[in-house]
Amino acid sequence: MPDLPPLGQRLADVDDQIADAARAASRDLSSISRIVITKFHPASLVRELHELGVRDFGESRHQEAQPKVAELADLDARWSFVGQLQSKKARQVRAYCQAIHSVDRDSLIAALTNDEAATALDVFVQVNLTDDPGRGGVLPSELEGFADRVASAAGIELRGLMGVAPLGEDPRPAFAALRGLSERIGAQHPHARALSMGMSGDFAEAIAEGATHLRIGTAITGKRPDHG
Ligand SMILES: *Cc1c(COP(=O)(O)O)cnc(C)c1O
Repeated sequence: MPDLPPLGQRLADVDDQIADAARAASRDLSSISRIVITKFHPASLVRELHELGVRDFGESRHQEAQPKVAELADLDARWSFVGQLQSKKARQVRAYCQAIHSVDRDSLIAALTNDEAATALDVFVQVNLTDDPGRGGVLPSELEGFADRVASAAGIELRGLMGVAPLGEDPRPAFAALRGLSERIGAQHPHARALSMGMSGDFAEAIAEGATHLRIGTAITGKRPDHG
């Protein structure tokens, strides 16, 4: 085997670690999607990743993502939006993404609702897993009602829950909590059992707690270019 370029090597290493974590948790690898988060990286890096076989990409800032996705319109790529989203930008994001992982406010549901959508947008409800109510995400106590409102909105499909583990702590309890909430939501909404959790530093723990969608940036892309 010829040596892989550094990007290909990092991708292969992460995929090995994903496979190891799935095996350790007795989980089927095909139940886990690896989304590569390319924020702050140029379109050329997305092309390199596409050549390496990556099809699922994610971005977190609309003003950066919109022109990047447009420049890459020739690729058969699927885009997820994972960052904080202003409701006045939501319709624009919907136009170039197949999924939004960060829906956490009624104003976003209203902005994304679309009676005439040809294809439904996949929506994950972001849950706040920290003690800080100012962080993104709905509070666990408000989740059930909010999920019901997403599920009944036209043109969007509730797929599951998303969370970011609190910084500087063992991520496992937060992921276990999200899994518990997911079981409750899944009982009401059988098509909404997906769990978007796990980033570069904690995807193995997320897989152990049932993650179905990993959002991995720097472990694959390398350090993000300085963004000022
Ligand atoms: C940037 C980002 C990621 C990826 O983070 P890494 O630590 O680089 O893997 C995942 N989720 C969200 C919401 C992000 O903004």
